[in-house]
Amino acid sequence: MPAADRVTKNLRALRVLHEQMDGCRACPKMIGPVVHGPAVMSRVMLVGQAPGPREGSFGRPFAWTAGRTMFGWFERTLGIDEETFRARVYMAAVARCFPGKAPGGGDRRPDAEESARCEAWLKRESAILEPELVIAVGTLAIERVLGEKSPLAAIVGSTRRCVWHGREVDVVALPHPSGASPWHRIEPGRTLLDHALARLAAHPAMAEVTRRGASRPSPR
Ligand code: SF4
Repeated sequence: MPAADRVTKNLRALRVLHEQMDGCRACPKMIGPVVHGPAVMSRVMLVGQAPGPREGSFGRPFAWTAGRTMFGWFERTLGIDEETFRARVYMAAVARCFPGKAPGGGDRRPDAEESARCEAWLKRESAILEPELVIAVGTLAIERVLGEKSPLAAIVGSTRRCVWHGREVDVVALPHPSGASPWHRIEPGRTLLDHALARLAAHPAMAEVTRRGASRPSPR
């Protein structure tokens, strides 16, 4: 199939998937609406944890303070602003609905059943996009993508190769940018974050994104 036809077919498949995802009510404890980024053909996928309480009203992931911090990291090291990043990188998450507040404060972490249930969407997205690079943001996303639990300091700052949904991918892990954890603001987190962002900037798939190469943005 010619490349242009394949892109058109995959974009259509992503949009159908989004329509189906928008109607998902599979998790009784989750609070809608379903939040996802636009249908963007990209070899780079970002996987976050779950939307916060504000993302639903904005209709896009990382729309509030954590997003401001994270897009600031990308602007500083990749040289692309938030809107450009959103238009060129496919943004996904372990869970697509707001989990609600945790009893002790902060957002509730999606439980294992919810994460496993919502993984079905990631699997389908991965099959369509065939990513080369996955940016895993926060401990839950890192654990789900790499399939292991390790301290952030053992993972952030390196590029890991793993099989994710049947496909070999490079994984660059980032700490969660929310204000809830100071990890990325104090040492060794600060330096390790810089190393991780440098890894991202040097990755060939990200280089295509930043020089506006193979990725193809498309409005929903
Ligand atoms: S978290 Fe995922 S699986 Fe659960 S209701 Fe939302 S979209 Fe569906």
